[in-house]
Formats: sequence, structure tokens, C-alpha cells
Amino acid sequence: MAGRSIRKLAIRNLAAAATVFLMLGTGSVAWAAPAAERIVLGVIDYSGLAPSDLARAEAEASRVYARIGVEVTWTGTDVPVAPEDASRFFRVVILSRTMAQRLIKAEQLQDNVLGRAVRPARRAHIFMHRVGEAARGAADFTTLLGKVIAHEVGHLLLPGGHTEEGIMQGNLYPGNCRSLWFSEAQGAEIRSRLSRPGQA
Ligand SMILES: [Zn+2]
Repeated sequence: MAGRSIRKLAIRNLAAAATVFLMLGTGSVAWAAPAAERIVLGVIDYSGLAPSDLARAEAEASRVYARIGVEVTWTGTDVPVAPEDASRFFRVVILSRTMAQRLIKAEQLQDNVLGRAVRPARRAHIFMHRVGEAARGAADFTTLLGKVIAHEVGHLLLPGGHTEEGIMQGNLYPGNCRSLWFSEAQGAEIRSRLSRPGQA
């Protein structure tokens, strides 16, 4: 009997959820949401992340872009890119400690640099060992990793450098990264760039 009543309740809740969903669905037509755009990020991880950690970091980066009306499609770097996606495809290379240290030394990068973006190559490098060290003892490192990915890809999508506030500020660390997002103006700039691929 108990089982049946629980099931009934569950069904009733499901019906209620469906109603709410329908109402929200109808409401969103009138709400002026930003035009949906899309980027495709090809990820390759040389640092040996657990697939679940990488997935969490990707979900965090997706959240950053979803806020400005940009959907992220995640893929690998060795997957053929559809011709219509070529202008919205960027690579995210998560480096091993050895690879990162070689690059950091060659380019004389500062101690607090967690990644770097190469605009002409449409590629972001992430220094995973530094992200791990920065996050040690603090919040879940995948949040910081997701924000760093969003930041470096932001450099590939935006003309300027660092800003005083938000996700494009120069210093991302576990204590401040959770609440960092693109500004409205940065969001508009990114959507505008993605909507006219020929002029990137
Ligand atoms: Zn930066």
C-alpha cells in the first residue's frame, strides 16, 4: 500500500513539474533571451584527468557561456569539424606538467599564469598542474579549471586583454572564481562575432 501511495505521489509531482515546465516554456517566448549562438570546443587532455573531473570542468565552462547565450558543444581534437562549424571551432589543450613547464620556460611566463591563448592558432593551453596547485586545499578544482578554460577561450573570442572584473580578470583563484562571468558587453561582443563568422 505504502509503495502504491508513494508512486501516486510521484506521478502527481511529475504532472505538477510538467505543468510548471509548460508554463515556463510559454513564458520564455515573451522573454527577450539573447540570440543563441554556439561554439565547438575540441579538448585534448595530456594531464591525465579523470573523465568525471574533465566533465565537471566542461560543465562549469558551459555554464559561463550559457549565461551569455552561447551554447558549447564539446568534442575531441581529432574529430573532423563540420565545414559550417569551422569558424566556431577552437582547441583546448590541457597540458601535462612536463609540457606546461617547457612552454612556461620558453615563454618566460609568470608564476601565477594558469593558461594561455594563441589567437592565430585558435588554441588555448591550460597549465593543469598550476590549476591543481592553485586549487589545493580550497574548493573543488574542477570549478577553477572550468573557469580557466572559459577565460582562455574568452581570449580567443574577444579582442581586448584582461578586465578589472569578471571572468576576464587577470587573476583567477579558487576564492573568487565561482562568481566570475562575462559582462553583458562582453557577451554581446562574443555573440556578435559568432553571428558574422566571415569577419572573425
Ligand atoms: Zn588571461
